Amino acid sequence: MNAITARLAAAGERRQAADMHRTDPVLTGLDLASNDYLSLSQHPQVRAAAIEAIEQFGTSARASRLVTGTTRAHHALEAALAERLRHPACVTFSSGYMANLAAVATLASQDTLIVSDAHNHASLIDACRLTKAPVQIVAHNDTAAVEAALAERRQPEALVIVESVYSVLGDAADLDALLDLCARYDAMLLVDEAHGLGVAGTGEYTGFGATAQLSAHRDRLVVTATLSKALGSQGGALLGSELIRDAAINTARSFIFDTGLAPANAAAAHAALDLITPERVSDMAAARAQLAAALEVPVPAGAVLSVPMPSPESGVRARALLREEGILVGCFRPPSVPDGITRVRPTARAGLSSAELERACTRIRAITDTCASPVAGAQVTGS
Ligand code: PMP
Repeated sequence: MNAITARLAAAGERRQAADMHRTDPVLTGLDLASNDYLSLSQHPQVRAAAIEAIEQFGTSARASRLVTGTTRAHHALEAALAERLRHPACVTFSSGYMANLAAVATLASQDTLIVSDAHNHASLIDACRLTKAPVQIVAHNDTAAVEAALAERRQPEALVIVESVYSVLGDAADLDALLDLCARYDAMLLVDEAHGLGVAGTGEYTGFGATAQLSAHRDRLVVTATLSKALGSQGGALLGSELIRDAAINTARSFIFDTGLAPANAAAAHAALDLITPERVSDMAAARAQLAAALEVPVPAGAVLSVPMPSPESGVRARALLREEGILVGCFRPPSVPDGITRVRPTARAGLSSAELERACTRIRAITDTCASPVAGAQVTGS
């Protein structure tokens, strides 16, 4: 061991590596762990679009978008996303993480107060850390705290950052109220739709996220999304005005210095976008309702349900026992959760039968109950 590897060993830095089970059986087993909310990653049209793009463009964008990494597939996807999510312009990235880095870097300067929700995703937190802007973290979903921060700021500019739907608690941001505040206090609102796209939205906007249907003050709204969850692909997007899109293209390091989104991923995401239908979204919602009722947990605004567990060990143990029975669920635990609570997380998806969900719920209840009981907890050693 050298000084660095000794520190890694002492800090237990290998503990999450046990989570990286191969998930090949997901293709035949019961996957309640992935973010493929509409089950589009296996849809024949999505696969065919990716294969066709590989035939045309090869397997890689091969360079930054600004060099030779832009194809027809990118432009077509960006136009479609802009239209469906109702923004004048869109630019795509190799991941949602990169899109968030770019969005914050583009919008914030040292003269900007960033007001960031305490439950924001790690990519948004990192994005804030990479700027020179002062950051004020406000209590989760506390609109009054956002208002106080905006009202009392010394900086001429302000950027409020939230997620439309939070996966940890399954709650949603009050976007109308936040946009209203942004208009009143001359701020902009950045909304990450990672968990909203494919899931949130009503009426003609069903499935296009919580932000597509917003009407007032859209000029203050900037949206990021991932192509890697409900769209069954990989990549990210930034949506807003042409001014903001062009500024991101010209200045964002995670765009300029990153190899472009693979054309096949762009084509797959585009095909998936065309498959977001009210029927598919309500199929996911029916699975979500069935899971929530059977597990006796609240129906979340997104697709991810949470069964709180008393300790990380009990959650990990429950997940392992369920896996042995062919039921894949997530287990999110410290340090990856904002409130320190371990949760077993079954995720709803379109295309699951009521019978298989019923069987899964019975086993999830039995196993989480056993693992949560003090007697079982005492025996658990973790993995
Ligand atoms: N934002 C949120 C809220 C997320 O949950 C995630 C992924 N877990 C991302 C951004 C990053 O997206 P990607 O996986 O496409 O990098």
